[in-house]
Amino acid sequence: MANFNTHLMGAAAVSGLAATVLVMSGAAPHQAVIGYFVLGVIGGLLPDIDLPTSMPVRIAFLSLAVVAGFLVVFTFGRRYSLVELVVLWVGCFVLIRYGLFVLLDRFTVHRGLVHTVPGGIGCGLMTTATAYHVFNASIVHSWLCGTFVSVGFIVHLLLDELYSVDLFGKKLLKSSFGTAFSFGSLSQPLGTVVLYLMVGGLFFICPPSKPFTDFMLDRDTYRGVTQRLVPTAGQAWFPGFLRRVTPASLSGR
Ligand SMILES: [Zn+2]
Repeated sequence: MANFNTHLMGAAAVSGLAATVLVMSGAAPHQAVIGYFVLGVIGGLLPDIDLPTSMPVRIAFLSLAVVAGFLVVFTFGRRYSLVELVVLWVGCFVLIRYGLFVLLDRFTVHRGLVHTVPGGIGCGLMTTATAYHVFNASIVHSWLCGTFVSVGFIVHLLLDELYSVDLFGKKLLKSSFGTAFSFGSLSQPLGTVVLYLMVGGLFFICPPSKPFTDFMLDRDTYRGVTQRLVPTAGQAWFPGFLRRVTPASLSGR
């Protein structure tokens, strides 16, 4: 099993790269991209959320509750009064910190059903549905939010799987190999069926995915990125960068 720091770095690296591609494509506003990045990192921590001894995960969850509260305030900030916003903020915090957390705590076992590929897809779909129905986000934006959560989640599972392979030791496979990147649990057949039914149900309450798949498959989305993958031949790397980072008083004005 990979530890908390590895998961944090792994999720941050992958969602950072994906967020950078989005910035370059110009397809999403910058604030939104920061949000996607945060969601990707949260997704990377989610699978271990039910680990009872995991203090960092609890702290992460607490910050998630705080961040979610602020997101609510930012979303409804122009429409509601201060008192209404405070009520919403507190409500959101309590719901996540005590509602969702207690629920997860009670009904999951680590390496149980949450720590699976369908678990990750379900968390992403839940994010998409919430972004769309609760925050009135656009279809593409909602699906991007969910995708980042799922991708972070899957990165977590892959890291756990990678760390169960002893790359340098004599023994090639540790006993935990194959338990992290799983599609369900044979010892919990009923729970697994319920999990798949939930994922299916969640898909139906999500907005139609076509605008999002169109956006993802559209070559124009990536045109800026493929054109600017590396500086073109004869062009310097980081042109004008030094001029920008040195204070104007030093650059001889
Ligand atoms: Zn894990």
